[in-house]
Formats: sequence, structure tokens, C-alpha cells
Amino acid sequence: MWDFDVIVLGSGPGGQKAAIAAAKLERRVALVERRNMLGGVCINTGTIPSKTLREAVLHLTGLNQRGMYGQSYRVKDEITAADLGIRTQHVIGREIDVIRSQLSRNHVAMLSGMGHFVDPHTVGVVDEHGQETKVTADRIIIATGTRPARPDTVEFDDHTIIDSDGILKLQDIPDSMVVVGAGVIGIEYASMFAALGTKVTVVERRDRMLDFCDLEIVEALKYHLRDLAVTFRFGETVAAVERRSRGALTVLESGKRIPAETVMYSAGRHGMTDELALENAELAADARGRIQVDEHYRTTAPHIYAVGDVIGFPSLAATSMEQGRIAAHHACGEPLRGIHHLQPIGIYTIPEISFIGRTEDELTASHVPFEVGVSRYRELARGQIIGDTYGMLKLLVSPESRALLGVHVFGTGATELLHIGQAVMGCGGTIDYLVDAVFNYPTLAESYKVAALDAVNKLRRVARFEL
Ligand SMILES: Cc1cc2nc3c(=O)[nH]c(=O)nc-3n(C[C@H](O)[C@H](O)[C@H](O)COP(=O)(O)OP(=O)(O)OC[C@H]3O[C@@H](n4cnc5c(N)ncnc54)[C@H](O)[C@@H]3O)c2cc1C
Repeated sequence: MWDFDVIVLGSGPGGQKAAIAAAKLERRVALVERRNMLGGVCINTGTIPSKTLREAVLHLTGLNQRGMYGQSYRVKDEITAADLGIRTQHVIGREIDVIRSQLSRNHVAMLSGMGHFVDPHTVGVVDEHGQETKVTADRIIIATGTRPARPDTVEFDDHTIIDSDGILKLQDIPDSMVVVGAGVIGIEYASMFAALGTKVTVVERRDRMLDFCDLEIVEALKYHLRDLAVTFRFGETVAAVERRSRGALTVLESGKRIPAETVMYSAGRHGMTDELALENAELAADARGRIQVDEHYRTTAPHIYAVGDVIGFPSLAATSMEQGRIAAHHACGEPLRGIHHLQPIGIYTIPEISFIGRTEDELTASHVPFEVGVSRYRELARGQIIGDTYGMLKLLVSPESRALLGVHVFGTGATELLHIGQAVMGCGGTIDYLVDAVFNYPTLAESYKVAALDAVNKLRRVARFEL
């Protein structure tokens, strides 16, 4: 009756995993994507290029080795945008190849173009020549992601005044940069450019940044970024950005005027729903282009699902993949367990941050008692060997059940290290497991044992006082 069992719109992490999961369940699947965007924002303009850029920056600047070899240590003296671009393009190319091969191995039909609803079961795909092909499906999964939000009052030119997509097109590394918005994307790029030697000013309307993270760790990050000559302007709003021959002047409502070669706006993202003709499927998006879903990622039309950034928080590649897989399983009537309540957060600033579970502030606000166990990398042999003297791992522990309530890591390998804590928390382990476990030596993983011992010692001290 239908051309396909499942049509997926968008080939980012959500769409890709949805298409593969449905194909593995032996459904006939089609994946609709624009030409040159296979892999989505994730592979082409977001996660992968930004993380590759970060790796190139860390390698070429030798930043992490300066504690050992002195402040003048560099792998390459004059780092150019081309040096960074080579690595980024290489990784993007390889990743696209992997995705294309995976889709074809699993017999997913690739339909090139922009998809829109013709009716609740029919999708029109318009290719780059304007040719429309109509296809029908029993189930449809929307995974169209987001694009950078661009305030109407700002004249973007993809050179001087840019958004996060524009970073990848820069021809030169600017001497100075204003980053508007201290969200994850803004602060990741701010730290990369600061590491390259760009004089960065971050302007943020709110008084704090990354307020969902551990406060102590955000303070440590700010200290490090200031050390790389980053200036923070918190509680400040941009009134105008004026283009000049040598760059742009960012004018703040407080009257400050900040000159910079480049201004990068990181003012949130907008759901890619404008061109979907959602009304033809009796669906609608909110003012930010987001689509509402239920716990199975079903929209108000029960045969149409939405996953990934287009449904909003947490807007991470990692979560989008899992949402895609779960939605496909539900759409194919396959039994499933739903998304795990523990979701890791990774922020690839320099140094990086990662956490899972709750923060001290959240626990305090909800009157949940906790003890803190801390390990500092400088007290670990591995920390000394790699020259990371600032990294730390923090465990939040329930004094009653001795369960882990949160794990917060700052420094080298934080995003990898976190998953040990995630496994312990996910399997219902307690801090005693970490105390008893033997870790390879010398490793950063050992920080779990050190932090666990710290927490246990503190708990013992409290118990003694209560005698
Ligand atoms: C600079 C940056 C850095 C990031 N870093 C990280 C990170 O370190 N870790 C992390 O987990 N996440 C990170 N993210 C977020 C991550 O990229 C997103 O969460 C993820 O890409 C969302 O996946 P998605 O499946 O929603 O689709 P997306 O990756 O957003 O892709 C959606 C795709 O849908 C296509 N599309 C849109 N409309 C249509 C249509 N009508 N028809 C057909 N196709 C359509 C688009 O062309 C696009 O290719 C970062 C994002 C950015 C911008």
C-alpha cells in the first residue's frame, strides 16, 4: 500500500539511527536529505568539525604541554586557518563515507532533496533542480534538526559577523573576536580561539554561564579562560553590531564599545520546520520551530515521530541518536525500554567538562543531603605525567545509601572518564565499589578511587561526631 514502511526526514544522528534501526527490523526505509548534508549538522557544521578543530588547536598550539616545556612551546609557530581546515575536512569526509556505507549496507533508500508533507502519509522531495518526487509511508520520522538563530537586527556577512556555521568558513584566524552568548557552542569556540591566541571577549546577557553545570567547575573554567586572555562581560546586552573596514564594533546597552576583527553570534538555534509544511499533516511547531512529542517521540499525529534537536532539550548528538533508535523501534511495534534517565553532558571547552546526575545546587535546593569526594589530577601520577595540574573529579554521594548522586569532571579526558561513573550509577553501585576496586596505575581513572576514599573519610568523620 505504501512506497516505504518508514520515511525519515534528515540524516543527522537522530535520523541516521532511526533509519538504521528500522532497516535492521527489516522495514523498507527511505532517508530524505539535502545534497551535501549527509550526516546532518553533526557531521558537516556542528559536533564533528568543532571537535576536530579543537583537536587540531590543542595539537598545533601545544597548549597542554606548556606546563612542561614553558610558555613559548608550540608545535607550529604560525597556525593558519588552512592548517585547521585540512584536519576538519579530512574527518568530515571520512565520517560521511562511513555513514553512506552503513546506510547502503542496510538497504536504506537515499532520497536527495528537501522533504515536506503533502498529506499525513505523503512526503514531497524537492531536489536541487526543483524537481519534486512524491513518496508515501506508513510511518514518518522527522529529524530535521536546527539552524543557528540569527537576530533580525544583526547583518551577518559570513566573514566579519558570523554564526557558528561561519567559523568553518573563516579564511584567517582573527586577532580579536567577540562571542555573543556564553552557551555551550559559544564558550567552546571562545576557548578554542583563545588557545590560538585570539583576544576573545564573551558577552552574555545573564549573570552566569553554563548554569546547569557544577558551579565550582564553571569557576575553574572561567579562571582558565581568563588566563588565556578571555574577557567576560556578564549581565550585558548587545545593542548593535556596526561593521567597520577593519572588523566590527559591538556596542553594548551599557555604552561599552568593543572592537574586534570578527563577531560570532551564538544566540541559540531554531528548529528546521519552516519548509516542512507541517499543516498538511495537521502538525505545528512552536515559535522556536520546535515540535512537541510524547514519551515515545510521537507527535500529535500518532504515525509521525520527531527526534533530535527539532524537539529541543538537550539537543545533543548523543541523545538524538538514542531518540532516533527508540522512535524507530516504537514505530515498528518493537518492544523497548525508553530512554535511560541518566544522560551524560559533555562540554568540549579547553579544559573540558563532563557530568552526569545532579549538581550540588540542585541537591541543596531539593533538600537532599550529600557528601563530596574530590580528587585532583595533580595528586595522581598520571596527572603529573601528562602535565594536567588543574583537572579534578568530584563525586556527590548520598550519606544514607552511599549511592552516587552526581559525577562531575573537569580537565583532560573528562568526557571519557565520566562514563565510569555513569556505569556505576546506572548499575546502582555505591561508593564502596569504587573504594574496593583496583584501577590501572598510573591512570586518570584512579581519580574515582581517590575521590571515593575522600568521600568515605568525610562520611566517617561525620559518623564519629554523631557518636
Ligand atoms: C557547533 C556545534 C557543536 C556541537 N557539539 C556537540 C558535541 O560536542 N556533542 C554533542 O553531543 N552534540 C553537539 N552538538 C549538537 C549536535 O550537533 C546536535 O545535537 C545533533 O546534530 C542533532 O542531530 P539531529 O538528528 O537533530 O540532526 P542534525 O544534525 O541537526 O541534522 C538535521 C538534518 O536534517 C536535514 N533537513 C532539515 N530539513 C530537512 C527537510 N525538510 N528535508 C530533509 N532533510 C532536512 C538538514 O539538512 C540536516 O542535515 C553541536 C552542535 C553545534 C552546532
